[in-house]
Amino acid sequence: MNKTYDLLIAGGGAAGLTAAVYAARSGLDFVLVDIASSMGSQITQTEDVDNYTGFEKVSGLELVQKFYKHAKALNAPMVSDEVKLITKQNGEFNVKCAENEYRAKTVIFCAGATHRELGIKGEKEFLGRGVGYCAVCDGFFYRNKTVLVVGGGNTAVTDALYLSKICKKVMVIHRRNRFSAENIIVKRLLEAENVEIMFETELQEILGEKSVNRVLLKGGRTLETDGVFIAVGIVPRNEAVKDIAETDNYGYVIADESGKTSVEGLYAAGDVRTKPLRQIITACSDGANAVDSVNKYIDELSVN
Ligand SMILES: Cc1cc2nc3c(=O)[nH]c(=O)nc-3n(C[C@H](O)[C@H](O)[C@H](O)COP(=O)(O)OP(=O)(O)OC[C@H]3O[C@@H](n4cnc5c(N)ncnc54)[C@H](O)[C@@H]3O)c2cc1C
Repeated sequence: MNKTYDLLIAGGGAAGLTAAVYAARSGLDFVLVDIASSMGSQITQTEDVDNYTGFEKVSGLELVQKFYKHAKALNAPMVSDEVKLITKQNGEFNVKCAENEYRAKTVIFCAGATHRELGIKGEKEFLGRGVGYCAVCDGFFYRNKTVLVVGGGNTAVTDALYLSKICKKVMVIHRRNRFSAENIIVKRLLEAENVEIMFETELQEILGEKSVNRVLLKGGRTLETDGVFIAVGIVPRNEAVKDIAETDNYGYVIADESGKTSVEGLYAAGDVRTKPLRQIITACSDGANAVDSVNKYIDELSVN
């Protein structure tokens, strides 16, 4: 650790790799640190992406590889390491990783978010083969089929509503006796004709062969379904910054479109920040905006 970078990008998914492209093109002295050389991006978890403009259909893996190659082609310096803790002392950031330590004038934190798992049998085994966490992304593949949504909050109810417009039948199971989602969307869901709601019902196991074909409920009953959408919450990967940056009640780093956080010089981009729509295209946009903010901040530093 003998130099101070202009910028350190923590996370190399949609937001981080876009930030790397913009940082390389603007001549910043930077480094991108990703725990798994970008293969830890949530994008790799989806078989097909069909809502990223310019690609009618592309596999998640292929899309990340394209992002990665784009950054590499611009000679973006990228290292594989796990960012553990980000602190700020004397106007500079100290980024402690599992293997190395870095100093930087600015940091773009874009470690993403991860969906809370149910932790039941069949959930991991059928991921991408009937089990999904993103109805907007994968709902299309269940056109005219039967799906099951698990959860009772805003995400679950919104997902169920979205799916009710695509699928033949949507079943919603929730372990409590009422939804915790906003009344207005609950009302709309109750009005949907092809939706069956089961309260005080819990999933025990997801079953199938090549892909999901049924689920086992606690109590022994089984339900036939082509897919299971799990919407029991999202967990932002905020560990490295949660002690210095302000977060909302759910742990998202508070930042607007410019990426500015409560800490000067620290920017949040992508799923880890407070925002209404967590998608690849909005994460890429965040990465670009955050570099713009970094450039302005560094210009100010050199003037003062
Ligand atoms: C199953 C699934 C399907 C989806 N399908 C779609 C879709 O079809 N269309 C769409 O637009 N969106 C889809 N999404 C959402 C989309 O993947 C995210 O909105 C997007 O990837 C967010 O980008 P990001 O850069 O914030 O996070 P990510 O792309 O997840 O990248 C975060 C990066 O940070 C790295 N990282 C994490 N912690 C650390 C650490 N401590 N140190 C170093 N590196 C770290 C990870 O390895 C990863 O590379 C889907 C999500 C899921 C889970």
